[in-house]
Amino acid sequence: MLRDGHIHTPYCPHGSRDSLKSYVEEAINKGFTSMTFTEHAPLPKTFTDPVPDKDSGMEQQLLESYITKIKEIKKEYQKNIDILLGFEVDYIEGHEPGTRTFLNEYGSELDDSILSVHFLKGPSAYHCIDFSPESFLAAVDDFGSIEMLYNTYFATVEKSVSSDLGVYKPERIGHMSLVRKFHQRFPSPDNWDEPVPKLLRQIAEKNYQLDYNAAGFFKSLCQESYPAPHIAEQAVELGIPLIYGSDAHISNAVGQGFNKINQTLIKG
Ligand SMILES: [Zn+2]
Ligand SMILES: [Zn+2]
Repeated sequence: MLRDGHIHTPYCPHGSRDSLKSYVEEAINKGFTSMTFTEHAPLPKTFTDPVPDKDSGMEQQLLESYITKIKEIKKEYQKNIDILLGFEVDYIEGHEPGTRTFLNEYGSELDDSILSVHFLKGPSAYHCIDFSPESFLAAVDDFGSIEMLYNTYFATVEKSVSSDLGVYKPERIGHMSLVRKFHQRFPSPDNWDEPVPKLLRQIAEKNYQLDYNAAGFFKSLCQESYPAPHIAEQAVELGIPLIYGSDAHISNAVGQGFNKINQTLIKG
């Protein structure tokens, strides 16, 4: 089974207006038999989005429409492809109650979701670590060193794994080495992956999956998968299922990078 488990939609405020249909047609044309729409869930009301346009998550008012439209298209194409309904939910340290409330309200509607860390709580502010090289550098400044930023990133992913977000908590961890997005400009510290084995064991114990995300191949300062190749291999050794994700924000990016990942690591 060819599956793309991480796809955005026209409901993404920083994505494209490409129609749901165009994503589905693209997936079918590329031979996929399963796809999950994982729009960025609305951010908790208690949280102020640190990116300039405050457009990291979808609008709360569009939730019902998002769910309805995906259920419709799922039916329309049921003979051709298995379409799953989900969200990419942010784990934001200190804002767990809002996330839990969201999941308790909408979780029963969902087939398949991802839990991602994009925001880190710094000494003086929250930072979006994947927005731009400049915002990454601002985060390094606030943390005091790139080592501290990496440590906080992996500690936050660990908290996302252990956090109680209720019975509908997503069971797939998004792009687990996103902190490497700009590593070709800001080199990762030596031994940056030291926290990884423990983190992977925790993920395995929970029976969670990993998003094997190919978007990094197309970011000029990254050029590798998330998680990085050696982490993907370690994960599989621990029995953690890797689910390929294009992280498409335009329809023709569905399936992107599938030929670049290590396909032998993939589980259906
Ligand atoms: Zn996005
Ligand atoms: Zn993401």
